[in-house]
Amino acid sequence: MLSKDLPDIESILSLNPRVQTHAAIHSTGAKKTERKHWKRNPEKSCDSCVKLENNFDDIKHTTLSERGALREAFRCLKCADAPCQKSCPTNLEIKSFITSISNKNYYGAAKAILSDNPLGLTCGMVCPTSELCVGGCNLFASEEGPINIGGLQQFAVEVFSKMGIPQVRNPDLPPPDDMPESFHAKIALIGCGPASISCASYLARLGYDNITVFEKQKYIGGLSTAEIPQFRLPYEVVQFEIELMKDLGVKVVLEKGLGMNGMSLTSLKDEGFQAVFIGIALGHLTGQ
Ligand code: SF4
Repeated sequence: MLSKDLPDIESILSLNPRVQTHAAIHSTGAKKTERKHWKRNPEKSCDSCVKLENNFDDIKHTTLSERGALREAFRCLKCADAPCQKSCPTNLEIKSFITSISNKNYYGAAKAILSDNPLGLTCGMVCPTSELCVGGCNLFASEEGPINIGGLQQFAVEVFSKMGIPQVRNPDLPPPDDMPESFHAKIALIGCGPASISCASYLARLGYDNITVFEKQKYIGGLSTAEIPQFRLPYEVVQFEIELMKDLGVKVVLEKGLGMNGMSLTSLKDEGFQAVFIGIALGHLTGQ
């Protein structure tokens, strides 16, 4: 229902000194020139403009500022039976990390995210959330729309990444020397992409301490580095998550992969590796 006009609306309008008695005419050319003076973003299409091929400096990666993140976090209903969490393939405790963000506990939020998903920043940036958690959010049909869960996830882990805090070995585990012999077994992971980074992180968190990831390329990250454009997922993000994995003692060997320099499952066995994880399928499927 629209409210009715006040009875004295005409007298109020007649007092408005901004009411124009004639039309103002400005040429489009003059307005374009004026706009250039105020425009925040640099011109991209003129002849003298900075060329932006392979230059993503103007891309703003962070979708939420602190103020935006806090507003979004306050909007979350913290639903008892949260459908967002049920729609998340990593079963992330979404309402829990959003509550931490509301309390400005960004470290706690990032810890909750990275505990459930060692690729927490990557997923916050590139996960198809509208199909998953955001698609399940109870606020989906509301005026302001569902909670920007990916944006909140990215915000919390980005803040954490700037804190420079390394990942530490689980303090509840016995000292390495007191661990059963099987935890010292040599484990090989083939391919340094998302699958191996996640697998190696979880193995190291369990206490396995002789893990090596072999990557056939000169660079780490697999699909995240080779296939996803830099403006969607910057290399520093991949690097950050790999550093967290390395904090637990995982070794990475570059330019070594199955079929290179005679490396095979048999040769790995001969070298004493007792378990092998092959995490190369997706790259192969996409023709890498
Ligand atoms: S479903 Fe939406 S509103 Fe409910 S807890 Fe999840 S993100 Fe918050």
